[in-house]
This record gives sequence, C-alpha cells and structure tokens, in this order.
Amino acid sequence: MEKREWTESCVLCECYETRGIHILESFLCYRCEKAIVRLEPEDPEYLEAIKKLRKIKAATLLS
Ligand SMILES: [Zn+2]
Repeated sequence: MEKREWTESCVLCECYETRGIHILESFLCYRCEKAIVRLEPEDPEYLEAIKKLRKIKAATLLS
C-alpha cells in the first residue's frame, strides 16, 4: 500500500513538516512545539512564538 504523507507549512518556522500539532487552523511542527515547551516564559523567543500564535487566533476569530 502506498503511504501517503503530506507536509504542512509551520506557522512559526515556515518550514514544511509532516509531523506536528494543529492549533486551531494552523500547523505547528514538532520541532517548534518542542522548542516552545522548552522555552522559559521570559524568553524573547517564547514571547515571539506566542505573539505569532495569537495573531493566528485573532485572524481566525475575525474571519
Ligand atoms: Zn516549525
């Protein structure tokens, strides 16, 4: 049987990955997911990631 694998564009790093999680309509690759989990809440990278995710959420709510 043919194994179908599709990739999705990650909302944070914008790379195409097959593995990851979905947050609302958006895709977050497993690497970014892990990275966010590891980051401290005070970390600028974490804040940046959250900001991006919030933007997506806002866009979803507006549409
Ligand atoms: Zn990613």
